[in-house]
Amino acid sequence: MKTLVITSSYRGEVYDSVFNTLTAACQITPQCDVLVIGPADLTQLKRCANVKHIWHWEVSHENNLATKLAQAVAQLASGYSHVLTAADSYGKDLLPRVAGILDLSQISEVMAIVSPNCFKRPMYAGNVIAEIESFEAIKLLTIRPTCFSACQPSVDSAAIENLNLELAASSITLHSEEIGQSKLMDLTHAKVVVSGGHALGSADNFHGLIHSLAAKLKAAVGASRAAVEAGFAPNDCQVGQTGKIVAPQLYLAVGISGAVQHIAGMKGAKTVVAINIDPNAQIFEYADYGLVGDLFEIVPALIDQL
Ligand SMILES: Cc1cc2nc3c(=O)[nH]c(=O)nc-3n(C[C@H](O)[C@H](O)[C@H](O)COP(=O)(O)OP(=O)(O)OC[C@H]3O[C@@H](n4cnc5c(N)ncnc54)[C@H](O)[C@@H]3O)c2cc1C
Repeated sequence: MKTLVITSSYRGEVYDSVFNTLTAACQITPQCDVLVIGPADLTQLKRCANVKHIWHWEVSHENNLATKLAQAVAQLASGYSHVLTAADSYGKDLLPRVAGILDLSQISEVMAIVSPNCFKRPMYAGNVIAEIESFEAIKLLTIRPTCFSACQPSVDSAAIENLNLELAASSITLHSEEIGQSKLMDLTHAKVVVSGGHALGSADNFHGLIHSLAAKLKAAVGASRAAVEAGFAPNDCQVGQTGKIVAPQLYLAVGISGAVQHIAGMKGAKTVVAINIDPNAQIFEYADYGLVGDLFEIVPALIDQL
C-alpha cells in the first residue's frame, strides 16, 4: 500500500489542512508521500515524521486550476493505493476530476479511517454516519480536517523532488482575483466560534453584537444561512450543510433556531451554548448550556461582564 496526500498553497504557505490530512493518511500507512501544488515553503511539511517524500509541482497561481492539473495528477495518483486531499474547496474541485479520469469513485468527507478499505462519512446532513467499504484499486478520499488532529512537525525526514508535469488545455482562464480584506479569524480552525442568526435583524445589529462578543472571546464569527441570505454576514461565515464545518471547543449560537442543516456544520463542537427567546427552539436539544431570553438583552450583558 502507498498513500499520497495532495495539497496546495496560499501566499507561499501550504494549506494548514494538510497537517490534519496527514494524520488521516498515517492511519492507513505509517508513511506517505505529499504532492504540493503551487509555490510553497516546505520547511514545516518536511519535518513531519510520517512524510516520506514531497513532490513539489510549483505551478503558477494562474495555472493552479483543477481543469489544467487533473490529468497529470491522475497519472501520478495511479502509482498509489490511497490518495487523500482535505475536503476544502481545492480538494473538492480537484479530486472528483481525478476520479473521473481514472474511472474510480471518490469517497467524500471522510470522518474516520476504520481500516485501509473502510471509512466513515456523514450522510443526510450528518444525521447518519455511514461506514463505506471500498474495493477500488485506488481509494480516492476527501478528508474532513476537523475530524483529525494536526500532525506536529518534529525532525527533518522527507526528501523533496521538484516536478514539472504537463498542464492540460482548459477552457477556464483565471483573469483576476479579488481577495476579501476580512480581518476575521479563520472559522474552520477557531477554538471558539460565536454565530448569529436571523433574529439579529440587521447587519448593524450583527456587527454590534456578534462581532463585539466574538472580539471579547477571541472567537471567529459564524452565521446561519438565514443571516447570510439577509445580508447580515458574508457568505464565508456560513456554518452548516452548505457552509463551513466547524469543530471548536466552544460554540455560541445566538438567535439561531437549530435547523438540521445548521446543526450539520457545528455538531462536532465540544461545548454548545445557545441563546434563544423560544424555550422550545430546536437548538436547545444540542446545547450543553441554554439561555432562554432576548438576545438584545443577554448579549450586551455578556459583553459587559466579559
Ligand atoms: C438544502 C439546504 C441547505 C441549507 N444549508 C444551511 C446551512 O449550511 N446553514 C444554515 O444555517 N442553514 C442552512 N439551511 C437553512 C436552514 O434550514 C434554516 O432555514 C436556517 O438555518 C435558519 O436560520 P436561523 O436559525 O438564523 O433563522 P430562523 O429559522 O428565522 O430562526 C431564528 C431563531 O431566533 C430566535 N429568536 C427570535 N428573536 C429572538 C431574540 N430577540 N432573542 C433570541 N432569540 C430570538 C427564534 O426563536 C428562532 O429560533 C439550509 C436549507 C436547505 C433547504
